[in-house]
Amino acid sequence: MTDIQAPIRPHVAPIAPKVGIVSLGCPKALVDSERIITRLRAEGYEISPDYTGADLVLVNTCGFLDSARDESLEAIGEALTENGRVIVTGCLGAEPEVIEERYPKVLAVTGPHQYEQVMDAVHTHCPPRTDKFEALVPESGVRLTPRHYAYLKISEGCSNRCSFCIIPSLRGDLASRPIDQVLREAEQLKNAGVRELLVISQDTSAYGLDVKYAPRTWKDKEYETRFLDLCEGLGEMGMWTRLHYVYPYPHVDKVIPLMAEGKILPYLDIPFQHASPAVLKNMKRPAKQDQVLERILQWRKDVPDIAIRSTFIVGFPGETEDDFQQLMDFMTEARIDRAGCFKYEDVKGAVSHDLPDHVPEEVKEERWHRFMQLQQEISHERSEAQIGRILDVIVDDSNGKEAVGRTMADAPEIDGLVNLEDYPDLKPGDIVKAVITDADFYDLWGRPPKAD
Ligand code: SF4
Repeated sequence: MTDIQAPIRPHVAPIAPKVGIVSLGCPKALVDSERIITRLRAEGYEISPDYTGADLVLVNTCGFLDSARDESLEAIGEALTENGRVIVTGCLGAEPEVIEERYPKVLAVTGPHQYEQVMDAVHTHCPPRTDKFEALVPESGVRLTPRHYAYLKISEGCSNRCSFCIIPSLRGDLASRPIDQVLREAEQLKNAGVRELLVISQDTSAYGLDVKYAPRTWKDKEYETRFLDLCEGLGEMGMWTRLHYVYPYPHVDKVIPLMAEGKILPYLDIPFQHASPAVLKNMKRPAKQDQVLERILQWRKDVPDIAIRSTFIVGFPGETEDDFQQLMDFMTEARIDRAGCFKYEDVKGAVSHDLPDHVPEEVKEERWHRFMQLQQEISHERSEAQIGRILDVIVDDSNGKEAVGRTMADAPEIDGLVNLEDYPDLKPGDIVKAVITDADFYDLWGRPPKAD
């Protein structure tokens, strides 16, 4: 960015217009909000922390599940009541008629990733101030996540067609960002103080497939726009790099040595969704389940500390007790360290809606409880095994005496915490050693190791 100096101000700038942002949905939507905020700040807008101080409110919606759609519609209603001037964007914005029918007073509706349209709508309803000296934005953009960690979005859309998912119809097919741009953004984030990168997309291991792995040059070295090259490039930067939404394609095995070398965190977020071949077939999931268990066991041999996070759906249409038992057996053998489990919910427009043999709610509920109980046991076993070990912990928050952080096995907001006792003067982003003294189902407690 050009370093603009403004020693003589030509005139007193008018008060900057203020935009409030309500960001709903997944980390990918959060990244969209961050990009919009970056653009707004670059154009001289201020971001209002509340409804009353805002000239208008942008609501970035989620439309994935019916419950998320309801939450989005409620948020729009609240913003209209509290402020009255509302622009809607995001996944639910792909269905403007739903929003406009319920809330005719909404100023404008734009769909996911329509940054230009969002900005056009903001310009129309809340014109920007023209004083360029105020239009400064940090080179790393503006982030809604704390300064020491950041999401790095490597692609948009998805070329898979899972039968329960409408994301491809909302966001289109996979569109990978060129690898040099992604690496440049990662470096800018590092220079801005980021210590941990969270790599996200809809299908991280498919990165580059759409551009036929186009080669690009970054810092005089050639990289292909592909998953392994991306991990190699990020692995050179010295930040904690965490991989989310990785499908178990065979080429994922090639990243395991980078974890063994300490270049990439020993953490894989793989949304398996199920383990029964029949259910996976009905789900139309990408990547074969064949030998997944053997491969996980091999990963654990190569990188004993690897943590695997996943999400699963129970009660998918057609799921029998035998299918569910296969899922429980998989969990028991693979020891999935962290797992989220959802009861199947119909999503408007998803193919699975029309599948036969929907599972009764009480059966879904009962399977969900059995699954969560098993998951809790597995998680507890892992937590207890950490007692007595000395682990690296990244600090998320501190009161000057005690702090809260996470191990390499814990992603922010979704996994466990380490409560650090007797650590004066830590600040977010510090990485410290802690001897683990206690554990519960998900969280750990740690103290400074004794000096030798
Ligand atoms: S991989 Fe499947 S569940 Fe994930 S975004 Fe693509 S279609 Fe949806």
